[in-house]
Amino acid sequence: MTQGYGVTYPLSSIVDFVIVGSGAAGGVLAKELSSAGFAVVVLERGPRLRPEEFEHDEYKYFFQNHIGAKTPVTWRETPNQVAKPRENAIWGAHIVGGSSVHFTANFWRFRPIDFNERSVVGDIPGAALADWPITYDDLEPYYTKVDWHVGVSGEAGGWGEPRRSRPYPVPPLPVKSSGVLFERAARKLGWHPFPAPMAILSRAHNGRTPCQNCGFCQGYGCEFGAKSSTLASMIPVAERTGRCEIRPNCYVRKVQVDARGRATGVIYFDRQGREQLQRARAIILSCNGAETARLLLMSKSNRFPQGLANSSGMVGQHLMFNGGSMVAGIYEHPLNEYKGAQVTRIALDWFDSDSRRGFYGGGGMDARGDILLPILWGMSAAAPGERNWGADYKASVEYGFTRQMTVMGHCTSLPVADNSVSLDPTLTDARGLPAIRITYRDHEDDLKMMRFLLERGKEIHAAAGAQKVMPVPITVSASGVHLLGTCRMGNDPRTSVVDTNHRAHDVPNLFICDGSSLVTSGRGQPTMTIMALAFRAGDRITDLARRGEV
Ligand SMILES: Cc1cc2nc3c(=O)[nH]c(=O)nc-3n(C[C@H](O)[C@H](O)[C@H](O)COP(=O)(O)OP(=O)(O)OC[C@H]3O[C@@H](n4cnc5c(N)ncnc54)[C@H](O)[C@@H]3O)c2cc1C
Ligand code: SF4
Repeated sequence: MTQGYGVTYPLSSIVDFVIVGSGAAGGVLAKELSSAGFAVVVLERGPRLRPEEFEHDEYKYFFQNHIGAKTPVTWRETPNQVAKPRENAIWGAHIVGGSSVHFTANFWRFRPIDFNERSVVGDIPGAALADWPITYDDLEPYYTKVDWHVGVSGEAGGWGEPRRSRPYPVPPLPVKSSGVLFERAARKLGWHPFPAPMAILSRAHNGRTPCQNCGFCQGYGCEFGAKSSTLASMIPVAERTGRCEIRPNCYVRKVQVDARGRATGVIYFDRQGREQLQRARAIILSCNGAETARLLLMSKSNRFPQGLANSSGMVGQHLMFNGGSMVAGIYEHPLNEYKGAQVTRIALDWFDSDSRRGFYGGGGMDARGDILLPILWGMSAAAPGERNWGADYKASVEYGFTRQMTVMGHCTSLPVADNSVSLDPTLTDARGLPAIRITYRDHEDDLKMMRFLLERGKEIHAAAGAQKVMPVPITVSASGVHLLGTCRMGNDPRTSVVDTNHRAHDVPNLFICDGSSLVTSGRGQPTMTIMALAFRAGDRITDLARRGEV
């Protein structure tokens, strides 16, 4: 992993683009725009860690939130409740590379239906399902760019796979015990399992090292650079152009606009906590589906009293998380799932919504170790309702650690108008800026889809011969990992925040590209699509800038 080649722009300079956030989308945009010849400054709230600083310290990463999201969050289920502070309500990383650094790296493409499902299934009562203004075919070349430039392992031809213009650059990761059990059981049940596409290199690619099977993967940075974070794959390329500066520890609090309503720069707290202004010809927000909405709402002014880019009132609305289910199982023989990347086999037999199920929803499943870190396993080794102390519990901790596998379901999350990110009226962070207030209750169909997948998870364990099966009961979501939909893309400025170029309808030189741009949630694993959108946005913004239209 090459680091530290960036240019340093004087604070007095006006650069072509300021990108706020260096995560899945911001990292791709930094590479694309600097490679296209533009002067780019990326302001990133978190620090920049060197590969050797990614430690295998479960307590620090999972319990002390070492690289995790830092903004305090309050939560309520409906708009008429008072939101209460909630720890770990939002999962993410504040670090150069964003949440792409520590994510699990499941990398499913969305499929054509994800882009026009409203037209196909019609209105869903209680939801604001909408078609995207772009199609799978518009995005396909950019999915392929993600495969090859960011680095995705997999095997073309999985069940129901849509058209792809190139094969994967590297083969699937070697199958793990969970993959073997899952594949056998799924075939027994008549399903169609296939090798999981993963943003993890199985072989050397673009000068990067393949996976070393360390096992501290989900929730951790990869010290080998085998996980295809933007820190490993994009940011070094951006810096080598000599036109991109990554400025870590810079927390942006406001986008500044002039009397004409054009963005002129961003105000941020630097490493020493001093307020600074970085001016630019255009601004791009890539802070994630919660923080981008927060920053827009914090950027209100006389000209934009409802918050920037928010004349429609849509900023922060339609928050989506992706639903999920989880069934752990214990097997007779050791599986040793604590090694290697999490997932090697998936099945997407339930991808399409099927009215015969009696509700809307689609999804897929995988098998993985999931909770196999010592402390987490200690906290999970007892099934819900069982004693987590005493001799039986100790035996279960010892026996189960090598013999556990979890079957996970991942599914649609409907956009619901009331589900939102807004500014908490009372709670603030250490700098006095408003906390994120989440209003969220899963749509009933989302909960039904999760229960449906929970049953499929039990079936897999039964068909695979598990000795003990431990389903986690489905309840309404109490936290979010995938933060999506809060500045949705659309052609109509009354119902969306950005157009198909990711340009804010209200501000001609403000662009928004990250999880917030998504119109629907897919069936889980949104990051492949977030990166594909960022590659596409890079092309569109470059064209606009070269034509003098920014
Ligand atoms: C534990 C975990 C596992 C996951 N596993 C998967 C998976 O297997 N598959 C999948 O598809 N997705 C997964 N995800 C989700 C995935 O990480 C996100 O969807 C993706 O990273 C979102 O991209 P983004 O560009 O929207 O935001 P991010 O990648 O989160 O980047 C946003 C960046 O903006 C910075 N920022 C925010 N506010 C400011 C500010 N005011 N000033 C300056 N900088 C700011 C943040 O520090 C961050 O670096 C996982 C997430 C987590 C937490
Ligand atoms: S399991 Fe592989 S990809 Fe994941 S952190 Fe370890 S070496 Fe990196």
